[in-house]
Amino acid sequence: MMDTRTAYEALIKEYKAVSTLGSIEGLLHWDLQTMMPRKGAVIRADQMAIISGLAHQKLTSDKVRDLLGTLNTAENTLSDEERANLREIDRDFTRATKLPQELVEELTRQRSKCHNVWEAAREAGDFSKFAPDLEKLVDLTKQQAECLGYEDTPLDALIDEYEPGATAASLTTMFNEAKKTTIPLLNKILGSAVKANFDFQKQTFPQPKQKAFGEEITTVIGFDKLGSRLDSAVHPFCSGGRGDIRITARYNEHAPQQAIFGIIHETGHGLYEQGVREDTLGTPLSQPLSYGLHESQSRMWENIIGRSLPFWKLSYPILTKYFGAELKGVSVEDWVLAINHVEQSFVRVEADELTYDLHIILRFEIERELFAGTISVADLPTVWNKKFEDYLGLTPPNNGKEGVMQDIHWAMGSFGYFPSYSVGNIAAAQFWAKMKEDMPKLEQQIETGDFKDILNWLIVNVHEQGRRYSRDDLMKRATGTPLDVKHYANYLTEKFTKLYRV
Ligand code: ZN
Repeated sequence: MMDTRTAYEALIKEYKAVSTLGSIEGLLHWDLQTMMPRKGAVIRADQMAIISGLAHQKLTSDKVRDLLGTLNTAENTLSDEERANLREIDRDFTRATKLPQELVEELTRQRSKCHNVWEAAREAGDFSKFAPDLEKLVDLTKQQAECLGYEDTPLDALIDEYEPGATAASLTTMFNEAKKTTIPLLNKILGSAVKANFDFQKQTFPQPKQKAFGEEITTVIGFDKLGSRLDSAVHPFCSGGRGDIRITARYNEHAPQQAIFGIIHETGHGLYEQGVREDTLGTPLSQPLSYGLHESQSRMWENIIGRSLPFWKLSYPILTKYFGAELKGVSVEDWVLAINHVEQSFVRVEADELTYDLHIILRFEIERELFAGTISVADLPTVWNKKFEDYLGLTPPNNGKEGVMQDIHWAMGSFGYFPSYSVGNIAAAQFWAKMKEDMPKLEQQIETGDFKDILNWLIVNVHEQGRRYSRDDLMKRATGTPLDVKHYANYLTEKFTKLYRV
């Protein structure tokens, strides 16, 4: 019989190969979104299906099964970290073996196809062009949920992929609590006399200069230029890993703040990847604990730090170096008010910090009903518009970019993903409350461009931990308590009542 050490090392070797295949698939996906000509979609779908099939085969091989069997029964001499790796590889193996390879490949192919159809249908605002492929994808995803298993609703099986341990029921409770702060605060702000001035949007802010500013400011924060790159894409994202992080942005030449905060957001994701330990690369200890935790990093840099006055006391002189004429007469305080402007709006990715969660909660509730079978794909535009009126007081003018087809997620089959954005906001505020306790001079440090302590706190408490602990254990170790929405409620209330004098 193989000894524990040999078996563990063999298992890690197999798992690292699975991770490498995953990173190749990520690169193909990055290329699809940034560089690939539209007609490349057919061959790309086949390429991605082959790679994901290989990764699935490798992860679910008899060899991995036997090694897990040996390690799970043997007298265990593994360290705590190694035990965490073993537990998480076991989780991945168990989830993957529940899915027949045929279904995995069919899902990958349908996701690619759906993504391609979505782009054209979204452009035309024609939901009927998208519906048949989306319906097929929802059916396949329901099959996926059945294979994975769940207690309450199929959506739980999908949420578990992104937020291990969370359920539709627990998220509903947390989001209902968040709404108690968000909605009254929104109403107060809408009645406030404090109004931002957007005259600067009459100017043109050329894309290359926006990109150059983005690269400069993210370098100031501590993002490694030699280990990353920035390109354009329809839907901004971050992919890759430590040493080769790819972020993307979407530019608006009249509203530079859109790309600026998109870039800072994706950089927050990139910093998480940059912060993992090199000696754990390719193992679960180098992987993010959950999508919500990943989002906590992007949202912290984008919103909590990136939209604050101390951050712009540092960064506004850099911005005006690029756009001095365009921002003539706009003070740093005017700018900070403009970038924190709160309004009822149609597009999630352009939504402000406060109303963002309403966009998320609406999508989450639609997914909950779609997977419970109480609504169908054909109902989506109607249900979407109704909820939009209820929560945001607006009727979407179309089903495309300002309506039900605006997001890439459903076109990619990423159902159960949306709640992670709000989980991220809630976790970020909790980290921030603790960071302010641990670092009393935090705001002065930001103002002087000293991000060392902030980055270090995040690396030690979040990035380097990877999947070592459960979410609530990680939150407890970092902040003293499990995830608690109260810090987020306090943060929003304090920030916006001050800014809008309400
Ligand atoms: Zn994000």
